[in-house]
Amino acid sequence: MAEKTKKIGPFQRPKGTADILPEEEPYWERIRKVVSAFAHAYGFSRIETPLIEESALFERSVGEATDIVEKQMYTFRTRGGDSLTLRPEGTAPIARVYIEEGMANLPQPVKLYYIGPMFRYEQPQAGRYRQFHQFGVEIIGEQDSASDAQTMQLFWVIFQELGIKKIHFEVNSLGCPQCRPKYRTELKEYYRPKTAKLCPDCRRRLKENPLRLLDCKNERCQELKANAPHLIDHLCQECHNHFTSVLEFLDELEIPYLLNPHLVRGLDYYTKTVFEGKLLSDSGVEESARVQELGGGGRYDKLIELLGGKDTPGVGWAAGVERAILVMKALGIAVPVVTPEPKVFLAQLGDLGKKRSLKLFEELRRAGIPVAESFGRSSIKAQLRIADKLGVAVALILGQKEALDGNIILREMRSGVQEIIPLGRFIEELKKRLKK
Ligand code: AMP
Repeated sequence: MAEKTKKIGPFQRPKGTADILPEEEPYWERIRKVVSAFAHAYGFSRIETPLIEESALFERSVGEATDIVEKQMYTFRTRGGDSLTLRPEGTAPIARVYIEEGMANLPQPVKLYYIGPMFRYEQPQAGRYRQFHQFGVEIIGEQDSASDAQTMQLFWVIFQELGIKKIHFEVNSLGCPQCRPKYRTELKEYYRPKTAKLCPDCRRRLKENPLRLLDCKNERCQELKANAPHLIDHLCQECHNHFTSVLEFLDELEIPYLLNPHLVRGLDYYTKTVFEGKLLSDSGVEESARVQELGGGGRYDKLIELLGGKDTPGVGWAAGVERAILVMKALGIAVPVVTPEPKVFLAQLGDLGKKRSLKLFEELRRAGIPVAESFGRSSIKAQLRIADKLGVAVALILGQKEALDGNIILREMRSGVQEIIPLGRFIEELKKRLKK
């Protein structure tokens, strides 16, 4: 008796993940192409880091008291007992590489870009997933405000090229270790009498990481935030000058921005400039398809040192691929197809015809002619019907007799006229017909 197949499943993809189906692929291809072309033009080189890193890398750099570290990391123990984490973001791994590979010895700054999956255990909704993709850039080893502005310019031109034109930046400065402590004290003083009104998370944040209070999505906490003191009013002279200079560059570039004194971003490693790229209200995207920010970033002048490297400044941003695609779709932006439409159909008949057909197919590909086939079908009628449906200009038919004689039939689909051509020059003939 034949063995019986034991059925299991069906399986579903894990919550918060997506399958990128072939019909979606043109959007991904378009974004990859634009990002790499623009990044290269601006002097950035591509880097890829592992999807897993030591958990401590993110705990230390993103910050222990952040949502990402407290609630969103996919952390596991390996069989060897190490604690690893699926990367929730791309900057800390690149800072790790910069130190590990001794990139401080390269001409500075080091300009890198990446595209790849990130993982955060979040509540999935439109534009928010557990596995999502970011493209991002980093300039490490340069503290001049021109590099903040240049990264923002690159963000801007990439989105313009993708057709997402009506965007602007929200910007703020988070100061530096000189000016931030005083502000932090003031922020604590502002919130302390209001402790009872804060959400439980913010009550804890008030002790551990008061800047995170400005980041809370809770409605009541948002209301309390309205009158909170602004860091921007407490910047030291150096941070103030740096920020003013970034804004002057943006003015010069005619890139629209809005000061948002409450913008802190969800990661601890930022110093000085922070920004988020957002759709403008007249972007043409319907309310239902509105996504939160398209991307965000900022300066992280203490990150490399924090991770054991020399005191080295850096600035960068990351943007979401899925969010960009959602907006492109909502705006009806067309993308070029990935695979060219076939111009020729290769039909086969009989054992010998079929046997030779795979080789012939490769010959056509090598000649740069997009070709379709249906090798599983043996009826010529059925094959020609498919050729017709595909709208190809020419069908090639390799029958038993033609294969034996070293010929092939070339059929012009529109007129139905057929001609027998020696296999030795069929590509040449075919190219002539396709030109017509
Ligand atoms: P962040 O690293 O949190 O500053 O995020 C930068 C960008 O990545 C955001 O502006 C989004 O475009 C994208 N992003 C962040 N988290 C998610 C997520 N859970 N799902 C989809 N995209 C995300």
